[in-house]
Amino acid sequence: MTNPLLQDWQTPFELPPFEQITDEDFGPAMDAALEEARAQIKVIAEQADIPSFANTIEALEQADGLLDRVAGVFFNLAGADSTPAREALQREFAPKFSAFSSEITNNETLWARIDDVWQRKDSLGLSAEQERVLYLTHRSFVRSGAALKGEARSQLTDVKGRLAVLGTQFTQNLLADERSWFMELEPTDLEGLPDFVVASAHAAGKEKAVDGPVVTLSRSLIVPFLQFSPRRDLRERAFKAWAARGANGGETDNREIAAETLALRETRAKLLGYPNFAAYKLETEMAGRPEAVRDLLMQVWEPAKAQAEADADVLTSMMHADGINGDLEPWDWRYYSEKRRKAEHDLDEAALKPYLQLDAMIEASFDCAGRLFGLQFRPLDVTLYHEDARAWEVTRGGEHVAVFIGDYFARGSKRSGAWCSAMRSQKKLGGETRPIVVNVCNFAKGEPALLSYDDARTLFHEFGHALHQMLSDVTYGSISGTSVARDFVELPSQLYEHWLEVPEVLEKHACHSQTGAPMPADLLERLLAAQTYDMGFATVEYVASALVDLDFHDGAAPSDPMAAQAETLARIGMPKAITMRHATPQFAHVFAGDGYSSGYYSYMWSEVMDADAFAAFEEAGGAFDPEMAKKLETFILSAGGSQEADALYTAFRGRMPGRRGAVERAGLG
Ligand SMILES: [Zn+2]
Repeated sequence: MTNPLLQDWQTPFELPPFEQITDEDFGPAMDAALEEARAQIKVIAEQADIPSFANTIEALEQADGLLDRVAGVFFNLAGADSTPAREALQREFAPKFSAFSSEITNNETLWARIDDVWQRKDSLGLSAEQERVLYLTHRSFVRSGAALKGEARSQLTDVKGRLAVLGTQFTQNLLADERSWFMELEPTDLEGLPDFVVASAHAAGKEKAVDGPVVTLSRSLIVPFLQFSPRRDLRERAFKAWAARGANGGETDNREIAAETLALRETRAKLLGYPNFAAYKLETEMAGRPEAVRDLLMQVWEPAKAQAEADADVLTSMMHADGINGDLEPWDWRYYSEKRRKAEHDLDEAALKPYLQLDAMIEASFDCAGRLFGLQFRPLDVTLYHEDARAWEVTRGGEHVAVFIGDYFARGSKRSGAWCSAMRSQKKLGGETRPIVVNVCNFAKGEPALLSYDDARTLFHEFGHALHQMLSDVTYGSISGTSVARDFVELPSQLYEHWLEVPEVLEKHACHSQTGAPMPADLLERLLAAQTYDMGFATVEYVASALVDLDFHDGAAPSDPMAAQAETLARIGMPKAITMRHATPQFAHVFAGDGYSSGYYSYMWSEVMDADAFAAFEEAGGAFDPEMAKKLETFILSAGGSQEADALYTAFRGRMPGRRGAVERAGLG
């Protein structure tokens, strides 16, 4: 009996041998990998040699190589293509992984060695990168509770174990709610919908094994439906189902999970000596303190709200002119906003869409990377984990750089949103390891698949993260690629979105799906001019979510998060016709794990930098200025977490950005 996950992979680029891997292989492979990692840690901790960087810190970097490899495959599949068996494995392994990481933190012999190396760091002749890795390892042990004793230590271990279970449950509940709801459409319900929405609704029906078109809760389908359907009753039904995800009562309800999570996070922070979870979490971010986050968010909030309220008045009168009295509701906003966009900017999303073919936009993202960094992309004929996923070999000057996998279409087995992950990260320790990087999106299918402008921006965004992984050039895996502060990690991704706005990019790649004609110049001009259209709405739904996230963690944990959410929204004066981009029961950023908890502000924090960073290109001679591209690669994209984020940014730009960037980019003042 051989387990393909535990063998050497004799495949092109050592890709995981997906066609040989079955769900039954994951459990035994992860158990075996955990055992091997444990054995290696034991050797490191209990060796007789005097602690050194090599026998302790470097050895730790390599101790979980097999585990990384197996878990890298598993967690990618669990997010992008889940099955009941994979969901059961996630539930089984979340506490096992948590226990394993607590075991490492609580290993006193190991901690004594790390602390000893740290105390003697100045006499060890370390390189800058080694010193950084030592600093981060030491810090991460301290922040995980290595210096705690007795009761406090075991309490922290229990808390972390329980949090891991809750995070998994939260994600699975959300996926279950998103998967189970759909609304069948009668032929008359399709009236007024553009062809691409009808086509997506049919494709979604097929996926749900329904004979006819349906609306699902996938953002790429429900948002265009809300934009275009003149049927207010159907919009209301769909919107309410969308808003109710994770709050439908019964087994998949996330509200209790959110409350318990927040309480446990507070306990965790206090055990470690912090007044609350936000103080703990933000200590290692660029922002540093909750007050700095609040300042930035409130600076943007007031102008955004004013803009949204003015917009709401316009949309309300449009609705009244349609003979519908009463208040503008959240299911009305996108519909009237779309009408207004057509009227005021002469920009019709339905007319625009045929020019934004998925394949052409992928090509556009590759083309920009070619011009900026000399990267080339060659399609690979390999078997992946799902027939919709595709792979490319990325090279530069004939040299292999990475394998890039794009998995673009929505399906019931995929969690919502879009993300980038590395199935294998770049590092040089123990031999050059080149990365396998995955972009996962939830675009609606079609023949051909067409994107909205927002979708195209998402594609560029995730590809920016992918570049951060693919161009990584560090020795140690723990600081590779996107292993940077959370409020810095969105810089490469948001920065890359700017290249979609460079007129020559769409001029070249945006061709009509039927006629092949390039996008007419005036349409392109109107599209670019309407960049900040409805930014009041977008900023309000985002900042409200970020403020609720911050309030949840900056102070005592609320016993009733839904009530606390309502309080925050009332305090900031949330416009009535706009809801949070992610309300608590579906706020996976915050509750599916620790990643973005008290960190949802990170997008805006990075936005201050991305506007300033792109301006550096414009000042230097244009979007494809080779010298700036070189600097971007050297100081940011290849540097991973080898230095503090502000040092990296300053090396790239010569200074830190001013604070006004986010407000200005949103066209809010
Ligand atoms: Zn991102």
